[in-house]
Amino acid sequence: MKKLETKSTVLLKHHLKALKLPTFNGECEKIAARCATENVDHLGFLLQLCELELITREKRAAERRLKAARFPNSKTLEDFKFEAQPSINRVLVGELLRGEYIDKRESVIFVGNPGTGKTHLAIVLGIAACQQGKKVRFWRVTELITQLMEAREERQLARMKNQLAKLDLLILDELGYVPASKLGSELLFDVISTAYERTSIIVTTNLPFEQWPEVLGSERLTGAVLDRLTHRCHILESSGESYRLKDARRRAGSKRASGQKPAESVPESLLKSPEEIQPPPKN
Ligand code: ADP
Ligand code: MG
Repeated sequence: MKKLETKSTVLLKHHLKALKLPTFNGECEKIAARCATENVDHLGFLLQLCELELITREKRAAERRLKAARFPNSKTLEDFKFEAQPSINRVLVGELLRGEYIDKRESVIFVGNPGTGKTHLAIVLGIAACQQGKKVRFWRVTELITQLMEAREERQLARMKNQLAKLDLLILDELGYVPASKLGSELLFDVISTAYERTSIIVTTNLPFEQWPEVLGSERLTGAVLDRLTHRCHILESSGESYRLKDARRRAGSKRASGQKPAESVPESLLKSPEEIQPPPKN
């Protein structure tokens, strides 16, 4: 009897492997033993295994999606201090976290000064989308343009564009930090155009819209890009100065108050607010 059991277990494991049910395979004996002691019937046993298989499968898929999205770092909503950035529409961020904008192919534009949390919130939205089963890819715009140009040179542009077209959400970080070349702008425009009505886009930028022609090279291209991006879009504006600077100043202030020297790596002049910095004396 014992021998027969062993033989059927071996066969069962073989079949479960063939059926690609790794959690069934790994957990069936443990759960069978538990169900026997708890008097759970056969269907209850099967249900427990199925649930476990589904949960592990979904967890692995979410991990794969997160990895594929290539976020530069992991940011959480809990770490974002809305009170430090009151200009950000908190209700809208909460709404966007539900992800319906992706199903409706809408875009999100974060616009505001450097260091005001645009990338932080874009990553938070991207991670939420991965957890909701969406295919996401984060790109710093300069890196995307470089890759597009390289792909073009290697005659791989169509392949790269096919990959981008499979995404549900494309995050374009730091549009406008560096002016793009004519070819670079055209390739970027092409990506945005293709994504239009197929893929949601999140853009972060420090430039108000009227300055986009300076980085995209022409009024015509900027008009076309803005037309695509703003057709159905949510705009989140962050104002004020860099969170990091404010935070460094606050920490330096509390160290000064306690008699400690401020961090060496932060120049004293940067820790002053613009009003505190005196203009150079006039001769
Ligand atoms: P931006 O993309 O607008 O230039 P970042 O999102 O990169 O700014 O923010 C710079 C740093 O400051 C990041 O480490 C970010 O996590 C942090 N940060 C910015 N705003 C906030 C905030 N309101 N609460 C907590 N951390 C913040
Ligand atoms: Mg940024």
